[in-house]
Amino acid sequence: MTLVVSEGTLLRSYPYSESSQILKVLTPGRGIVSLIARGTKKRGAVGDAPVQSFEEALFTFGAKPGRELHTLRDVQPRGAPYRLAGDLARLTGASLVAELLLAHHLEDGDEELYRWVRRVVERLCSVQEAEVLGWSLSGGWRTLAFLGFLPELASCISCGRRRDGEGDREVDRLDIAAGGLLCPQCSMAALHLPRVGPGARRELAALVEGRPPLIRRGKRAHISLLEAFALEHLAPSRKLRAFAALRSVIGTDPGKSRCDASKRRADGLPARVAEGGRKRPPHSG
Ligand SMILES: [Zn+2]
Repeated sequence: MTLVVSEGTLLRSYPYSESSQILKVLTPGRGIVSLIARGTKKRGAVGDAPVQSFEEALFTFGAKPGRELHTLRDVQPRGAPYRLAGDLARLTGASLVAELLLAHHLEDGDEELYRWVRRVVERLCSVQEAEVLGWSLSGGWRTLAFLGFLPELASCISCGRRRDGEGDREVDRLDIAAGGLLCPQCSMAALHLPRVGPGARRELAALVEGRPPLIRRGKRAHISLLEAFALEHLAPSRKLRAFAALRSVIGTDPGKSRCDASKRRADGLPARVAEGGRKRPPHSG
């Protein structure tokens, strides 16, 4: 057994026997590790867990070769606790990123991905309410890109025509399964695919690059687009619950009542989506 000391971010914890918990922890060097924390419930502290979800801490655990579950020896929270629990929208945004990571069973370390997740959590804790959806979506899109599912938004995946021109007013479609945009000419036979107009195209590109714009319109359509892309490419074994939660807490557009579900439509963006390439995400600086 090797004693490992690693910084990490708690993605999720759940009970394991009467007095123990399993912690799913994202680390920069080992991807997601599963730690069993014995006796944590006996302390009777608030929340029972040694750290809170999305809090960063220094984890010490005994790692056995060939084993998936390691034994937590010590955990030391770093800095102030992240107070996401008091704000459902911010917590849901962070949970969305956690669900995508957990669905992928990330086994390899990725320092850059780790820093990105930290940044998303920190921004979700601190930004204005209006920016929470943008950071949630950007957290999801860019995390997918790190996991190998980077959508092609700069040019048509069929004919190669540039799609990121400033004055381009055409409406493209996103081929979710193929992983990128189809220009109007190439999508004439694919009218079932979600529409992506010039505004949504710019917003998507910024979200993937980790520069979330203020999203004022088409909120629910944006959520649906990311959800469809994640479902197509991650093919999760469990339902991704954060998307529905995000819709209920944040996905309302101006002038639309949160209760008026029957009138909700996917403004401007499509109802269905397809697939993407496996490239690294671009640097956001
Ligand atoms: Zn084309």
